[in-house]
Formats: sequence, structure tokens, C-alpha cells
Amino acid sequence: MKTALVTGANKSIGFEAARQLLQQGFYVYLGSRSLVNGLKAVEQLNSEGLDKVEAIQIDVTDDESVKAARVGIGKKTGVLDVLINNAGISGEIPQSALDSKIDNFRNVYETNVYGVVRVTQAFIDLLQKSPEPRIVNVSSSVGSLSLQSDPTWPFYNYAKFAVYSSSKSALNMYTVTLAYELRDTSFKVNAIDPGYTKTDFNRHQGTGTVEDAAARVVKYALVGNDGPTGKYFSEETNPETGEIPW
Ligand code: NAP
Repeated sequence: MKTALVTGANKSIGFEAARQLLQQGFYVYLGSRSLVNGLKAVEQLNSEGLDKVEAIQIDVTDDESVKAARVGIGKKTGVLDVLINNAGISGEIPQSALDSKIDNFRNVYETNVYGVVRVTQAFIDLLQKSPEPRIVNVSSSVGSLSLQSDPTWPFYNYAKFAVYSSSKSALNMYTVTLAYELRDTSFKVNAIDPGYTKTDFNRHQGTGTVEDAAARVVKYALVGNDGPTGKYFSEETNPETGEIPW
């Protein structure tokens, strides 16, 4: 049975991604920074008949928590097939490039960028034991430098989020460099925009469903050996091929 770790999986897109992986027959380590919330999420999945799942306390900003999660999962499995780096925060709003406080940048980068680096580095040895390892970094189309500087992009004139957007741009570059380093292996490493989705993240202002958002993410956890790596996908932005410019 294939195994997966999803960070920030106690609710919203991460929770739904965990559910869809379970439906695909995976054993899922459901990452949650609050163990209580993780256990509640597992209870919900169990009540739906999905029982190959367990809660793992993991705060992606905390070295000790990530190390403990690695040790805990390592006692249960010698192989991790899928890592979904989903945990993310938006930071304080508004986010003017001129006025945003350094602490706002620091907090958001700590989760959205360093958190992904920390978790990826902690679990890479378990992923390397998989014959078909997959890393999905949950990004956003607002992290695209090309789109953000294209006046014909429909969201060009929307408020720009200097802190959040730049954190996703940094995550994108980490994805590119990680995929490059792993290019001669069976790893597939991609950055995925789940689309503007109705969750706590945007006080439920998003227009898409968590089911569609999670399906867009899980698709790249299931990608075959002939699938893409080092790419950036947003089905919302490009319904045809999904691929968008960095
Ligand atoms: P959400 O409803 O706010 O859920 C975020 C999840 O991340 C929660 O489980 C949260 O845990 C967890 N998290 C936050 N900080 C964490 C930390 N330090 N350690 C571990 N977990 C942490 O957000 P969402 O809409 O599902 O977003 C999920 C991902 O999609 C994010 O990376 C976001 O940037 C991206 N995204 C979302 C949208 C959208 O429209 N919703 C669009 C594009 C991209 P708690 O419950 O403990 O807070």
C-alpha cells in the first residue's frame, strides 16, 4: 500500500486531499499542527469508512515538531511515496509592497517557504525509498511573476499581495531547483495552484470547491512515470493544459 503525508490536512484543501488519497487506496499520515484537530479529522474520515489514516502532529515552522513527525512516521513505515506540502498562510492583510511589516513577511515565509524546505528535507530519505516518489507543493497562481506582470491577465488589476504572493514565488523557485536536483531520479516534483477556493483561508470568499481544489493537487501526487516534473499548473488559469508560466 502506498503512503502519503499531507501537511495542514486537518481541514479545507489538505483534508480533502487526504480523503481523496484514501479513496485511491493510500495509507495517509494526516499532518496537523494541533494533534486534537488532527484526531478529529481522522475521526471524521473513519466515520466515512476510511480507516487507513492516522493523525501526525506537525507544525511546519517548528524544527522539533518536524523531526518528531519524521521519527514517528519512520517507526511505522520505511517508505513514503507522496509528500503534499499543503500547509500555508496568507499573512496580515492589506499587503502593500511599500508598507508591509517585515514581521508579516517573516511569518508568512516561515510557513509557506521555510516550512516546505524543512519538511521536504526531513522526509527526503523516506521518499527516496519509494520507486515512484512524488512531491506536490501547493502554490498559487498569484506567485507567478509572469502573470503578475502581464496587464492582460484578468487579475492584473486586483489588489496585489506583496507578502503572500512573493512567498509563493519563492516556493515556486524552490520547486524548480528541487526538481532540477532530482531530475535523474524517478521523482516528480511540481507546483500546483488549487484555484480560488472557498475555505477559511479567504473567509470563504473563494469561488471553487475544496473537492475540485484537492483533485487538482492529488492529480500530481498520482502522476505516472511519464508525467511532468519541475512544472507549474493552474487549471483555473489554463483549463486546456493546466500549465502556467513561472
Ligand atoms: P486553510 O483553510 O487556511 O487551511 C490551511 C491549513 O494549513 C490548516 O490545516 C492549517 O492548520 C495549516 N497550517 C497553517 N500553518 C501551519 C503550520 N505552521 N504548520 C502546519 N500546518 C499549518 O487554507 P486552504 O485554503 O486549505 O489552503 C491550503 C493551501 O492552498 C495553502 O498553501 C494556500 O496557500 C493554498 N491556496 C489556497 C487558495 C484558496 O483560495 N483557498 C488558493 C491558492 C492557493 P490550522 O487549522 O491549525 O490553522
